[in-house]
Amino acid sequence: MSNRIFPNIRLRRLRQNSAIRSMLAEPLPGPEKFMWPVFVVEGKGIKQPIKAMPGQFRYSIDTLLEAVAEVVAMGIRSVMVFGVVYAKRKSADAAYAWQPDGLVQEAVTTLKNKFPGLLVFTDVCVCEYTSHGHCGCLHESGYVLNDESLEMLTSMAVSHARAGADGVAPSAMMDGQVHAIREALDHDNLEDTILMSYSTKFASAMYGPFREAADSAPAEGDRSGYQADCRNWRAGVRESHADEAEGADILMVKPALFYLDVISEVRRHTMLPVAAYNVSGEYSMLIASANNGWGDLKKLVRESINSLNRAGTDIFISYWANQYDKFLKD
Ligand SMILES: [Zn+2]
Repeated sequence: MSNRIFPNIRLRRLRQNSAIRSMLAEPLPGPEKFMWPVFVVEGKGIKQPIKAMPGQFRYSIDTLLEAVAEVVAMGIRSVMVFGVVYAKRKSADAAYAWQPDGLVQEAVTTLKNKFPGLLVFTDVCVCEYTSHGHCGCLHESGYVLNDESLEMLTSMAVSHARAGADGVAPSAMMDGQVHAIREALDHDNLEDTILMSYSTKFASAMYGPFREAADSAPAEGDRSGYQADCRNWRAGVRESHADEAEGADILMVKPALFYLDVISEVRRHTMLPVAAYNVSGEYSMLIASANNGWGDLKKLVRESINSLNRAGTDIFISYWANQYDKFLKD
């Protein structure tokens, strides 16, 4: 056999016109593969732009219903609810997080009543509700106590499920949180509630815009004591393996675009669905780039979603979801 592939093999043959290129292209995921993260605030008639994330807003429940009606019309079938509450709700023990008539609980019930076919997931973490802003129970030494935090997370998850959430998504990165939540849900006859774990969640610099959206930066210290170290991918992947063993229904890698190798690795080693959280920094950096004239936003969005698809993503948790028709529809 000749080791000269040219001129016998001409790869350009298969990309010489748009018909053959389109025929061979991997399709972009449809809207049913997307989950739109939404930020709910207290009050009425509020639709407050998030400066660091153009196109995203903080909604009160009434305006959220209008926004969700628009995305449902595009074929989006799932949202993830984050609550952003008044400072007076926050306490050291985060008790507001599992109040039956709390903000997220009310948002979930209202969404499910209005859109029974919509999959409503909730973020389960107490950093929105603790006065110190950490994702669990803070010891006076500044250390976040693991096992003591599990009770907070299970109470929160059960209250969301009781409010009607189809799925809960624990994001605190406490050891044993999936097992503890599964057990608590089952004990409460909520065995059908889906548990999507933020299983491989890195302590990342890409969460900056989200901090403005959710007002959730810790008062002191950072989250590197519980979120996975972005320089240690094997430890990050082990987190997903552990969560699968604990009973997670869906695994997740967060952030997504800087961790395509990790998504592929998790994908290769599990039969569970794998979600990728296309985080705020990934969203905002494409917009910033386009605003500077450094790239076409639609092409940037499509190429980035294509890369997540190729890496093995099943569920795209993405802020592009509410602009699906503008950027992703063919
Ligand atoms: Zn948290």
